[in-house]
Amino acid sequence: MRLTTVGTGTAAPSSTRVNAGHLVDVGDVHLLLDCGSGVAHRLASIGADWMRITHVALTHFHADHVLDLPTLLVAWRYGALPPRSAPIEIIGPVGTIKLIEAFAAIFGDPVGRPDFPVEVRELAPEGVLDLGGGVQLESRPVPHTPESIAYCVRGGGRRLVYTGDTGYDEGLARWDAARGCDVLLAECSLPDDMAIASHLTPSRCAQLAAVAEPARLVLTHFYPPVEDVDVRGTITTRYAGPVVLASDGWTIDIEDI
Ligand SMILES: [Zn+2]
Ligand SMILES: [Zn+2]
Repeated sequence: MRLTTVGTGTAAPSSTRVNAGHLVDVGDVHLLLDCGSGVAHRLASIGADWMRITHVALTHFHADHVLDLPTLLVAWRYGALPPRSAPIEIIGPVGTIKLIEAFAAIFGDPVGRPDFPVEVRELAPEGVLDLGGGVQLESRPVPHTPESIAYCVRGGGRRLVYTGDTGYDEGLARWDAARGCDVLLAECSLPDDMAIASHLTPSRCAQLAAVAEPARLVLTHFYPPVEDVDVRGTITTRYAGPVVLASDGWTIDIEDI
C-alpha cells in the first residue's frame, strides 16, 4: 500500500498546499480520497498517473474536498488521448448521488454522462464497500458536518485510516479499524488557541493518536495559523510513534514502515 498526500491544504488559498486530496495505491486499486480544488493539477505536477485512478471517495461535501471532481471527470474525457474508457467508481456519504447530479446539471454531459462508465455508490455512516482486488473501504461518522465520514482502507495486509475533516471524537479514536492501524492520516486544521468543535488541533491529534496507537501519524489539512506553532512538539508529548507533517506530493510505501 502506498500513500501520497496530494493536497494538504484547506479552504485558505496557498502557494504550496492545494485543497484536500490523497492517493492510496494498493495493487490495481488507485483510490483518491477527497478531491478538492487544485488536486487534479497537483496530481500532474507530482507525476501521479491521474488517468489510472479507479475510485474516488469523498468524506463530505465542503468545497475544499469536492470541487476538482468535475475537473477530473472532464480531464478523463478531454485531457489526454486516447480518452478514458475504464470505469470509475465515485463513493461518498449519503447525498453523493445528489452532489453528482448537481455537478452534472451545471457542467453538462462531460460530467453527467461521460464516455466511460461511472458508478456512484453511497456508503452508510457505518458501512463497508469492497473495491475489488482485495481492498475494502470502511466508514465511520465523524463530527464535522452531518454527512461527514472517516475512512479505513484495508488491503495488501495494511490498514490506513483517514479522518477527513473532524472534531475530536473518542469513538473515532477507539474505532476498531483505527486501533493500531498502519497509518493514521489526520486533519490538523487549527492551533490549540483557535480550537473549535468541528476541527482538530495538535493537542487533539495527539489525543487521537495516544488512544488509537497507529504505527505512524501523518498530519494534513493545515490552515495557515497552525503552521506557526510547534505541532510536532505538542504531538510527541502524548504519542511516541513517528509523526509526519505532510506536504503536497509527500509519499510513503506503507510496507516500509
Ligand atoms: Zn476541509
Ligand atoms: Zn470540511
